[in-house]
Amino acid sequence: MKFDRLRNDMVEKQIEARGITDPNVLAAMRKVPRHLFVSEALMDQAYSDFPLPIGEQQTISQPYIVAEMTQALQLTKDDRVLEIGTGSGYQAAILAQIAFRVYTIERIHSLYVKARKLFDQLGYHNIVTRYSDGTSGWRDESPFDAIIVTAGAPEIPAVLVNQLAVGGRMVIPVGNQYSQDLVRLVRDERGIHQVNLGGCRFVKLIGEHGWREP
Ligand code: SAM
Repeated sequence: MKFDRLRNDMVEKQIEARGITDPNVLAAMRKVPRHLFVSEALMDQAYSDFPLPIGEQQTISQPYIVAEMTQALQLTKDDRVLEIGTGSGYQAAILAQIAFRVYTIERIHSLYVKARKLFDQLGYHNIVTRYSDGTSGWRDESPFDAIIVTAGAPEIPAVLVNQLAVGGRMVIPVGNQYSQDLVRLVRDERGIHQVNLGGCRFVKLIGEHGWREP
């Protein structure tokens, strides 16, 4: 099938070629039908090396950044993961291939409804969705083994860091509204350790512990 071929090419030329090695990440990206997470008009571009619009002025991230962020989480099959920014649902679907359960929060109602419907249609039964401001996390389900924020924050929300388990990993873009650094945090018994994975560009994380409402 055309999309299977495009998907395999994407993994080989955009993901493996740029140094992603986690076999779980590569397998997930070979499996999830990314073209079903965009509108029909954009399906032919779904496996290209750039982000695409998903409506409401939001985007589905470039395939490579999805792979890089997922690899940085070092997921195992028993992990419970929190995602802030469901968007199209594609990143959550990738996480759900690898981890035990994914909790994903979206603040735009139409995107939340669309993603939930798609998860049900595609049989992603280990994805739990929520419509709310994700900058406060999901306290009732915490602590999480991994937290991924897929929108750019002005700073790292302490409330999210507090919902990481000991041994937990978090990735979050932090910076101004035009460019951010992708930051990886690890929590261990001694505290929080942080490394910068490099530059990136995301739409804004809007909410109580993010950017103010426009
Ligand atoms: N992970 C998504 C995907 O795979 O398509 C891409 C996410 S898109 C770059 C960022 C998303 O974060 C948007 O859908 C936006 O509405 C959402 N967002 C921004 N601030 C948020 C918040 N405080 N809580 C939940 N979602 C938020």
